[in-house]
Amino acid sequence: MIPSPAYALIYLAAAVLFILGLSQLSSPRHARRGNLIAALGMLVAFAATLPLLHRTELNLGLIALGVVVGAPIGAWAARAVRMTAMPQMVATFNGVGGGAAALVSTVEFLRAPAGGAALTLSLPVVFSVVIGAVSFSGSGVAYAKLQELMRGTPITYRGQQAVNGGVALAIVALAVLLVVTGVGGAALLGLLLLALVLGVAFVLPIGGADMPVVISLLNAFTGLAVAGDGFVVNSPVLIIGGTLVGASGTLLTKMMSDAMGRSLGNVLFGAFGQVVAGSAGPVGAEGRSVRSGSAEDIGTLLAYAQRVVIVPGYGLAVAQAQHVAKELADALEQRGVTVEYAIHPVAGRMPGHMNVLLAEANVPYDQLKEMDAINDSFKTTDVALVVGANDVVNPAARNSPGSPIYGMPILNVDEAHQIVFLKRSMRPGFAGIDNELLYDPKTVMLFGDAKASLTKLVGAVKAA
Ligand code: NDP
Repeated sequence: MIPSPAYALIYLAAAVLFILGLSQLSSPRHARRGNLIAALGMLVAFAATLPLLHRTELNLGLIALGVVVGAPIGAWAARAVRMTAMPQMVATFNGVGGGAAALVSTVEFLRAPAGGAALTLSLPVVFSVVIGAVSFSGSGVAYAKLQELMRGTPITYRGQQAVNGGVALAIVALAVLLVVTGVGGAALLGLLLLALVLGVAFVLPIGGADMPVVISLLNAFTGLAVAGDGFVVNSPVLIIGGTLVGASGTLLTKMMSDAMGRSLGNVLFGAFGQVVAGSAGPVGAEGRSVRSGSAEDIGTLLAYAQRVVIVPGYGLAVAQAQHVAKELADALEQRGVTVEYAIHPVAGRMPGHMNVLLAEANVPYDQLKEMDAINDSFKTTDVALVVGANDVVNPAARNSPGSPIYGMPILNVDEAHQIVFLKRSMRPGFAGIDNELLYDPKTVMLFGDAKASLTKLVGAVKAA
């Protein structure tokens, strides 16, 4: 509810700050500023709402308790979370957002006058309850899969589609009934329960490794549920904020699927990561030889190169090797070697994962090259140093039509004159498939944890 034009202007200012913040997130160069601007928008909206609370019959003590307990937990969690566990944290925050949106709508419906809720109330209520509850329980399953509290592989069973379809149909039937009649507290609670079941059922058959895409989609759902709440409680700032989250989450989901070379349908319904009977084993190294080198030899190779491209991947994040990667780049640059970093859009386990890690290590932004910008120059690269990456450089994406990653755009590391892989074993990456490039005659492996290997390489380059 907006009591005066002054409030409308304050909320408009908050919405503008959200939009400005979002626009700044498009590049790591100003993403931090974007976050601060959006947070300021949130603060403005929150502070402007506080004086209005006395007009309602809300329990101000409970609200204060929520802020006092919730804010420190949120701040602590955001600071303490490991970079590799970031998708789980986003899932948690997103899930509770969806749950809260569903509850707000539920309460508003139950408070409707005895004659029943008008269509303008019942429609957004039903929308927010369903979408918010799906997001809440779906995010919970996504969290459990990523945190390995449950099996990460797709959980499928015979007749699953029919069961899910049945639940969805029941939801539609109840939703129509509630929207049309505007009454039925028990029916609304039934709808809430069914939507919670659908959230779980929807995420169960999706592989743990696809969870970041699912979380992005559920994030969009939460945004839309919050926008629905905006109509329920008549709050334009909720409508705008929620719609922005819904739109940006949808775009991000699409961009992530595209960067993996897969359709959203394949991510959601393809049970990617399921063990396929009769498929080749993941390692599949039988009989083929792999060349492994010593840190000293590889250090010399790097030190006498003209151009080295570092290709970071998920293993860099696991090993927390970003600072020592920068040290190696510095040591090489001191010897006159040109060093750049090739960033694949889905390297790691979340969008922008590598950018964030490397920014943390103060790698200059102009050395971070997006895939399209750097791919042509691998031909003139002396050494491609692959640090804990695998799928994003796997030529099977180009050459093997049957491969699960076929069609995914990759970094053209195979075109470099020499390739060095830093990883601990011959184990595959996220997609669970063998990488031919590991057996390429121009590839040298340096086995071990990426941080330890890079530390050895820094010493070897300095000694060369
Ligand atoms: P991959 O998962 O393909 O490979 C990572 C490699 O890192 C593994 O082969 C592993 O080998 C190695 N590794 C793990 N820990 C360490 C360590 N401590 N030291 C050294 N090496 C280590 O990662 P990529 O970044 O190449 O590809 C990302 C994958 O994730 C893609 O398939 C992408 O589609 C998917 N994905 C990405 C999302 C995103 O938003 N970024 C979202 C969802 C999925 P070993 O065990 O032998 O060490």
